[in-house]
Amino acid sequence: SAGRVVVVGGGFGGAACARALKRANAKLQVTLIEPNKVFISCPFSNEVIAGLREIEAQQFGYDKLVAEGITVVAQAATTVDPERRSVTTTDGATLTYDRLVLSPGIDFHVEALPGYDEAASEKMPHAWKAGAQTLLLRRQLEAMEDGGTVAIAIPANPSRCPPAPYERASLIAHYLKTKKPRAKVLILDAKDSFSQQRLFERAWKELYGNMIERIGLSQGGRVTSVDASTKTIVTEFGNYTPDVANVIPPQRAGHLAQIAGAADATGWCPIDPVTFESKLVPNIHVIGDACLGGGIPKSASAASAQGKACAAAIVNLLAGRAPETPRLTGVCYTTVAPGYGFSLAGNYQPRGDIYAEVEGGATSPVDAPRELRAREADEAARWFQTITADTFG
Ligand code: FAD
Repeated sequence: SAGRVVVVGGGFGGAACARALKRANAKLQVTLIEPNKVFISCPFSNEVIAGLREIEAQQFGYDKLVAEGITVVAQAATTVDPERRSVTTTDGATLTYDRLVLSPGIDFHVEALPGYDEAASEKMPHAWKAGAQTLLLRRQLEAMEDGGTVAIAIPANPSRCPPAPYERASLIAHYLKTKKPRAKVLILDAKDSFSQQRLFERAWKELYGNMIERIGLSQGGRVTSVDASTKTIVTEFGNYTPDVANVIPPQRAGHLAQIAGAADATGWCPIDPVTFESKLVPNIHVIGDACLGGGIPKSASAASAQGKACAAAIVNLLAGRAPETPRLTGVCYTTVAPGYGFSLAGNYQPRGDIYAEVEGGATSPVDAPRELRAREADEAARWFQTITADTFG
């Protein structure tokens, strides 16, 4: 064969990378390790929480990847030996590689939020990995009485999809406005300012009046601990006992990246931005949420673009050619109500050790007619169809 590449993680980064590798060179032996037979997408999962969409619309399988000649191993990767260039899986099997790609997404930095562990997440769901948690949060909202309070605890950056917590607050407000109009959304935020803030705040005023209250970092909004037994959220300023507590904890690279030695003290993985090769471990590339992408927000569009660029670099490296400098594009759509959307598009290029945003980006205007918001909501739905077909279909 022309070389063996093992990809760990069949999400937006890993699946896109595996496909791009095989398409670039059919002689490559490409193996994708992913424990779940069905991938559940985070993008559009806020619609599921708000009852606007069913979870089935979020589910994607790996049949197409298998048909294209990718070996899909339905196991979790458990250890990496960079010297032997091998990976082991839960069933005890060992796979060797010339190049290893890690796209394990995020894990929660539980030490950074005392009181929040797996058991606590059953009472105070994060819903920051889609699936059972998404449905749990939805059921809690459905069970809540009118007049109740839904708190959303938001961590500092870097974290997965910076605008998504505010999209969630918006869509929960939409659900409440329709079904429980006396209820409130309380945002407890570890940040003072956030992505597309003016667009969100304009939309909240227009659509939800005083339903959403936000306490930022300077007002003591950062969550410092939780107590799941009493459903209490402790912030720098005071204690809250909301009826529904959506606690999104601080994050770091998926655990396997730490096991592989690819994560640094920040919890994320430093990379060479041209090849996505780890700065810490040779022959291992890290893409998606797990890598330190500099100016690139952690999103599915970014993970997919990184997966493809990484595949191109690996094909060149294995053939003894110099890798080309990538230029990545990403677009992030937000939906704050049915038929009301906006977007943020960016272009990114390597600059030194990181990616920097370069010209050509665009954010939706703050003052715009509803027709534009409606058009962007349609574009968001089309974006989802396109990226999921590109990744899995
Ligand atoms: P993932 O897609 O999470 O994939 C990681 C995969 O690795 C998983 O399938 C996991 O099972 C697997 N894995 C982990 N550990 C192992 C192991 N040891 N062995 C084998 N496999 C392993 N992005 C957008 O662009 N647009 C949006 O509108 C958007 N909306 C979002 C809304 C919400 C509520 C959230 C939470 C996120 C949203 N995102 C959005 C962000 C997007 O989901 C992530 O940025 C994207 O999924 C990152 O891709 P990834 O490949 O790094 O990780």
